[in-house]
Amino acid sequence: MDTLGLYIHIPFCLRKCAYCNFVSYPDRLGDADQYIDALIDEARFYKKLLQNRVVNSVFIGGGTPSLLSPAQMKKLVCALQAITPWKNTEITLEANPETLNEEKLSAFSKLGINRLSLGLQTHENAVLHDIGRGHKWETFLYAFETASRFFNNINADIIFGLPGQTLQSFGETLSRLIHISPAHISAYALKLETDTPLFKRYSGVDDDADREMYHLAVKILTGAGYTHYETSNFAKPGFECRHNLKYWVGEEYLGLGAAAFSFLKEDGGHRFGNVSSLDDYLQCVMEMKRPISENVYITGMDQIIEYIMLHLRLKKGIDFAEYQRNFARDFTSDFGEAIHITQNAHLITVDCKGIRPTLKGFDLQNTLICEFIKNL
Ligand code: SF4
Repeated sequence: MDTLGLYIHIPFCLRKCAYCNFVSYPDRLGDADQYIDALIDEARFYKKLLQNRVVNSVFIGGGTPSLLSPAQMKKLVCALQAITPWKNTEITLEANPETLNEEKLSAFSKLGINRLSLGLQTHENAVLHDIGRGHKWETFLYAFETASRFFNNINADIIFGLPGQTLQSFGETLSRLIHISPAHISAYALKLETDTPLFKRYSGVDDDADREMYHLAVKILTGAGYTHYETSNFAKPGFECRHNLKYWVGEEYLGLGAAAFSFLKEDGGHRFGNVSSLDDYLQCVMEMKRPISENVYITGMDQIIEYIMLHLRLKKGIDFAEYQRNFARDFTSDFGEAIHITQNAHLITVDCKGIRPTLKGFDLQNTLICEFIKNL
């Protein structure tokens, strides 16, 4: 049976962080019970699909899913498992440190949740306060240490390029993290979104500083035994995120909830997304309608473009044999000139099996991808 990833979006937060443009509501937690009912109803719309696949990864993201009470989480997890059992499934829960305590962590782990993704962002309390986060380094440390008694697979999210952050202070964040040694670390460049309060008062770091911080993350984390397996993701061996890998290698996933996206391999490739407004989502499901607002079918050359764009985010890059199996075409014939140009520019390495981006290739990812796509 084919495998499937399941993404569940929980759009509730305690407050809105200054840089955030995710679909999250700081004042709607009172709607959580109704929302969980809607998620379960939406899953029932996909009963046939869910029963014809093995769900081998679940990602409960947000928002702040750890705001749900253990009873609410249990209702959601048990109802979904009644539709499709989760066996040997990686089940990730995104969590904010200030929402966790021992009782919750114990309850979540008893439900079968086996991976925790904690939002740290930085160890600097003044910076955390400035960007609107509700925790301090000490809060994170308590959450991490308590969680470590229940979970052996914990991710920490950090951001570089934040206001007030320096190369040295970012290095200190990295050092503190490798000292406590989470299984997985995601290090993202700050993305300044136009509709956020931070955008109005901060223009970000320049490209050189941004790259210096990125290179420092790569150096410190790989030096500490983490594999740099995707542009922004680092894992101890065997702890790569199974669910997120599905997004990059083009495997199937179903998204439930407001603003959740799905990808199925029907008719070439079918990507569809749910309405992003919480009220619109609840209304649609109440009327027994699928809450879909976007439908894209990926066919012909677009499938190849998407394959290249996603695979060049991965350290393992593009495998010639897999490309041949997927598209019945020869990669070196299709892209001989692009391979030559990007190899000479030190953006990729090449051997008889495939191509892989170098660190410079990760730095200049858009240039690298464009070089391949313009040759199609
Ligand atoms: S906790 Fe996450 S989802 Fe919620 S406002 Fe902050 S960045 Fe956005």
